Amino acid sequence: MCGIVGYVGKQKAAAIILDGLKRLEYRGYDSAGMCVLQGGRLDVAKKAGRVEDLVEEIARHRFSGTTGIGHTRWATHGGVTDANAHPHVSSDGRFALIHNGVIENYAQIKTFLAGNGYGFKSETDSEVLCNLIAYHYAKEPAGGEGTSCFLESVRKALGHVEGTYGIAVLCADSPGEIVAARKASPLLLGVGDGEYLLASDASALISRTKNVVYLKDGELVHVTPGAFSISTLDQADVSPVVDRITWSITDAEKGAHAHFMEKEIFEQPLALENTMRGRFSEDGSTAVFGGLNVTAAELRQIDRFLFCACGTAWHACLVTEHLIERFARVPVEVDYASEFRYRNTPLHPNTLFWVISQSGETIDTLAALREAKRKGYRALAINNVVGSTLAREADGGIYQHVGPEIGVASTKAFTSQLMVGAMIALYVARMRDMSFSDGVSYVTALKRAPDLVRKALEQAPHIKAIAKRFAPYNDMLFLGRLSLFPLALEGALKLKEISYIHAEGYPAAEMKHGPIALISEKCPSVFFAPSGEIFNKIVSSMQEIKARQGPIIAIVTEGSELPPGLADEVITFPECHEAVLPIVAAIPVQLLSYYIAVERGCDVDKPRNLAKSVTVE
Ligand code: GLU
Repeated sequence: MCGIVGYVGKQKAAAIILDGLKRLEYRGYDSAGMCVLQGGRLDVAKKAGRVEDLVEEIARHRFSGTTGIGHTRWATHGGVTDANAHPHVSSDGRFALIHNGVIENYAQIKTFLAGNGYGFKSETDSEVLCNLIAYHYAKEPAGGEGTSCFLESVRKALGHVEGTYGIAVLCADSPGEIVAARKASPLLLGVGDGEYLLASDASALISRTKNVVYLKDGELVHVTPGAFSISTLDQADVSPVVDRITWSITDAEKGAHAHFMEKEIFEQPLALENTMRGRFSEDGSTAVFGGLNVTAAELRQIDRFLFCACGTAWHACLVTEHLIERFARVPVEVDYASEFRYRNTPLHPNTLFWVISQSGETIDTLAALREAKRKGYRALAINNVVGSTLAREADGGIYQHVGPEIGVASTKAFTSQLMVGAMIALYVARMRDMSFSDGVSYVTALKRAPDLVRKALEQAPHIKAIAKRFAPYNDMLFLGRLSLFPLALEGALKLKEISYIHAEGYPAAEMKHGPIALISEKCPSVFFAPSGEIFNKIVSSMQEIKARQGPIIAIVTEGSELPPGLADEVITFPECHEAVLPIVAAIPVQLLSYYIAVERGCDVDKPRNLAKSVTVE
């Protein structure tokens, strides 16, 4: 969601922060701003709107200082206005703060501070925290030799707030310093050559350094010229672990593609190869995972899996449910993370809990993981971002290894999650009833997935032409059965997210139990109709739509024969193994949504109101 950037070094901070803000734009935001400390003064430029709207404002300020912070806001408290944009400056002019998250008890603190003479220029919860730091600074100068009054004031203020935060703070009295802290919002420190950077997301700092320290919840970092120290809210010192980012800046750039989403759709063959790399046994009959931290003996004791996630990752859970039940014959439940955290679901004692989140920072998914762990269940995570909060808090898990996903609408992370799900199904099945030779065929099929996806991508020009024809519609249904029912949900979600067309996904046979009332020549249906046992049943559902003048786009296996005139448009994908089918079938609906959104002139990479990783509840 909102983005944080900070810089302390020898270069002019403004240009570096602006570059960082541009790289964070994909996360979704509504305002942007920066503050540079120069000549003992906190100089702020901020504006509602895009980062590009801020550029002129920044130029006017002629920033020259070498310490600064920048922010992209996703409003939670107070409208999208210049005044509510971050950074906020305390009413005594001493502190500037940027904040990601929500301060839940801001109203009480605000009343208290107002009674003590502090004034407020915005409606945000964040400005309250900024003034609370100023209050502690003014009231309780640092105690003890060697302690920083700046750091201690931030620590004290954080001791009084409830809620979530990733913050970075400047103090007018402390040039060359930043204090930053986190609780349930991501924050990293980049350790560069004679400089330090702070960011909520590695893409904002990777152009300057690949050496990073991932801060943990409840930790504060104090950056001073040439050094940094990490401590906890309780004042305990923390020895930092410097990690190295494994991807490069070009992975976070769109190259010759018109949009990140297009780039990520087309890089799926490679992404799938990366997800599978090194994860099959030498005899080629099963999957192997390095970081599960569950022994084969323990896994055999598991009677049930519970998967939790949000949005697209929830659809990946539904496909995984289908594959595990089908191949491993272990019962699987799937829940929305946001519901699970409050539902107090009764769990079977031998349940293995899983969460899926591309970013590993989705707050609802994190809360579900914590709830499962609190109840004493072993909890594993499937996640793409190395070092994410989810990855650190889970008992074990599987990294997707697809590189940064910048497009807000998930594509390559989704198919990679489907691949991980298919591999888990194989792994568990091979411990139970799946034979060696069935295992070998399954592995061979998974290894072919990148080529099959390449083949499915060849339909792009044809799908683009179909998109031109269907872009003017305002409603659409997506229908599929078995493992492709979740793909119908995903197709509908993708279309909604980026083209703002109202779309619904249903199991194809459910259509006649209600949604059929929507069918007319104004509401097209997209059908998944793979070859196999229920192909004819799906064709019957199509007939029901056709009888009511509903236009049909059929997505079928190459070589399938539909009754003449039944479908208005046909998209094909190559024949494939059941475990690979959902991955290959994802391609046509990703392309269809993408081209329809482009045709409608939508801002594909920055869809309205959406954020890449949802770090507020
Ligand atoms: N709650 C703060 C606000 O509304 C921060 C929101 C964000 O995470 O961007 O300004």
